[in-house]
Amino acid sequence: MATDRAGEERTLGRFERLAEQRVHLDGFALEDPELGLVALHSPFDPEPSLVVRDGLVVEMDSKQRDEFDTIDFYIADHGIDLEMAPISMSLSDETIARRILSMDTPRGEVAVLTSGLTPAKLARVVALLRPHELIYCLARMRVRRTPSNQAHVTNLLDDPLLLAADSATAVAYGFRELETTVPVLEDAPSNAVALLIGSQVGRAGAITQCSVEEAMELELGLRGLTTYAETISLYGTEQVFVDGDDTPWSKAFLISAYASRGIKLRVTSGGGAEVLMGAAERCSTLYLESRCVSLARAVGSQGVQNGGIDGVGVVGSIPNGMRSLICENLMVMMRNMESCSGNDTLVSESDIRRTARTMPTFFAGSDFLFSGYGSIPRYDNMFGPSNFNAEDLDDFLVLQRDWGVDGGLRAVEHDEALRVRVRAAQATRAVYEHLGLAHFDDYHVNEVVYASGSKDLSPRDQRLAQVASQRIVEKGITALDVIRALHATGFGVEAGRVLAMVNARLDGDYLQPAAIFDEEMNVLSSLTDPNDDDGPGTGYWPSSDRRAEIAFSPLAGSVQSLQGEQKAATHRLRVINEGPAVTGVDPSEVVIGVSPALARSMWVSSGGHNVADMLREILAGLEEGGSTGRLVRVHRSIDLGVIGLTAAKLSGSGIGIGLQAKGTVLIHQRDLPPLANLELLSMAPLISLEMYRGIGRNAAIRARGGRTIPIRNPYTNEAITARYHATTVAMVAMERMATSDEDPTEFEITGLE
Ligand code: CA
Repeated sequence: MATDRAGEERTLGRFERLAEQRVHLDGFALEDPELGLVALHSPFDPEPSLVVRDGLVVEMDSKQRDEFDTIDFYIADHGIDLEMAPISMSLSDETIARRILSMDTPRGEVAVLTSGLTPAKLARVVALLRPHELIYCLARMRVRRTPSNQAHVTNLLDDPLLLAADSATAVAYGFRELETTVPVLEDAPSNAVALLIGSQVGRAGAITQCSVEEAMELELGLRGLTTYAETISLYGTEQVFVDGDDTPWSKAFLISAYASRGIKLRVTSGGGAEVLMGAAERCSTLYLESRCVSLARAVGSQGVQNGGIDGVGVVGSIPNGMRSLICENLMVMMRNMESCSGNDTLVSESDIRRTARTMPTFFAGSDFLFSGYGSIPRYDNMFGPSNFNAEDLDDFLVLQRDWGVDGGLRAVEHDEALRVRVRAAQATRAVYEHLGLAHFDDYHVNEVVYASGSKDLSPRDQRLAQVASQRIVEKGITALDVIRALHATGFGVEAGRVLAMVNARLDGDYLQPAAIFDEEMNVLSSLTDPNDDDGPGTGYWPSSDRRAEIAFSPLAGSVQSLQGEQKAATHRLRVINEGPAVTGVDPSEVVIGVSPALARSMWVSSGGHNVADMLREILAGLEEGGSTGRLVRVHRSIDLGVIGLTAAKLSGSGIGIGLQAKGTVLIHQRDLPPLANLELLSMAPLISLEMYRGIGRNAAIRARGGRTIPIRNPYTNEAITARYHATTVAMVAMERMATSDEDPTEFEITGLE
């Protein structure tokens, strides 16, 4: 605020507008290493070092063994390849960074080299990489060749039918992992069952999890009601483990429990968590996350969900924060683990910022681009809104199409979504009723099928999921009961698919790093589908079928269909008495030159006006201004300037109007060059009938040698060219088809009123 010359307190208008932008709703923090509010480097981050004596790490990252905390011990004893370490640690940060980027160093060699790095060294190496380099490093270092995507499927009511219908919808869109959680912990078993059934409708092989308290999550897995787990949390400082009554050993034990039953698992970490707990020990978020990643490797996890996650708001608020999120993912990939790459928390109220946060991963691809794309509406996401949500699905699909990038998703047409939603709701209802968990009426099923989210459902028994969950626990229901119920109620296909998920545990192939099932139940993992990106022409490239899927958009209209709309438009205008045009002698006349297709094959402007209405208004305006109008068609050109100038040269007054069927209009004068004009309305979609009348009036005034107040294009802040581009292409093509070598012709019209 300042004081202007009149002594008033004022803010500059531009700054007032800026203050209204969405980015002003975000919080930004000053860098402060004391609080751990620093992304890539803190002056308190330790210097990398490693001293090994008799096969034992006695110094790591400037700390002696007797100073180690539990995390240091675990990493030093289980997380570093001591055979590689002397080589890895002897190389400069720059040398290692260059090897990651160099196509001459195969991906596997980089991973082996990384296995000998300490946490401080790894963090320093990735911090050297600039944003464009990071994108390439992600593309080449991710473990699996084929990128994929994970969805959040939740709703505020824990409605089982809605969860199932939304799971089926997510799978139709292409998500291969579905994650749910609960607003009410007791609902967890019911949510797990609903997801298990819904995920197997339509296509096979999507795996599901229910993110809840660790003991219950494990029990759901053991019962086969979930098929992977993700939420064993690791932290970069010991204090946060202590606060959670945990140690690296307790986490390792839990991970082994999952593995022993053939259940896929990854751990969760992500920068900023330690800052939020007030226990960052003055270190950078990246260094602490490097400790988590090393620990993840040490405890035997096949993958890591990181890239901010719960602490993303903190990391996003400090300088270089977004960049460090990508570094987090890259460290996981370099350690040869599956990366589930964040983007699962709405990081900004600004669409520009939140999109920019996701784009590097989107361009590069990842094992999972989102560790939870909100496949349901924002308000139904019980993890909190994701960075992208159901509302953004068409945007995401268009981004895939724009860049030819495989983001793991595909368009779903309305009837396909309807089919899978009906089937998922019916199958889930059948299982719940068969197992005596709950009863649903037809009205409920129908509501769920058509609902966008839980706000569209009628009020019902809020304890339904809770009661169903109690019964699942009491009856000891397992995946086998669900399979039997599906089979008994006529959902044999889904029964077979759930059974296949149970069988997959016996094979264990999907315990390999970065494993997913494709829709034919083939395992794609680091073993069966290893990333082989070593520069142009190598690595993942979508198949021709997949490229067609990416290119397809239900939003795209063909030129043919737009032309069909023109032909089908009703019109009352009749062109009569058409013959060769003559040069007029009446000094009060204005000639209206029209484009080749106007009132022949084209009848509606891109502003939606019938050509009859446009002509009626122009003629009325001419009359108001004291002129008469004469109509001439220009056959040889579709250029508005040439059409207007041709009209002006034929006009007794020397003033002409040019009008294209798509609605653009101008006033021309016979002695001007074609590209000059007196007044031009170029934004056809925005031109009103009053403005056509104004053009007529001004042309008449100019015909008498008067001066006018020009009609101006209206204000707009919309992407007019983007919205009407396809329409314009269709219209120009129709005008072009209507051209001929014929000289201009005069005509009259009837049916204006
Ligand atoms: Ca997740």
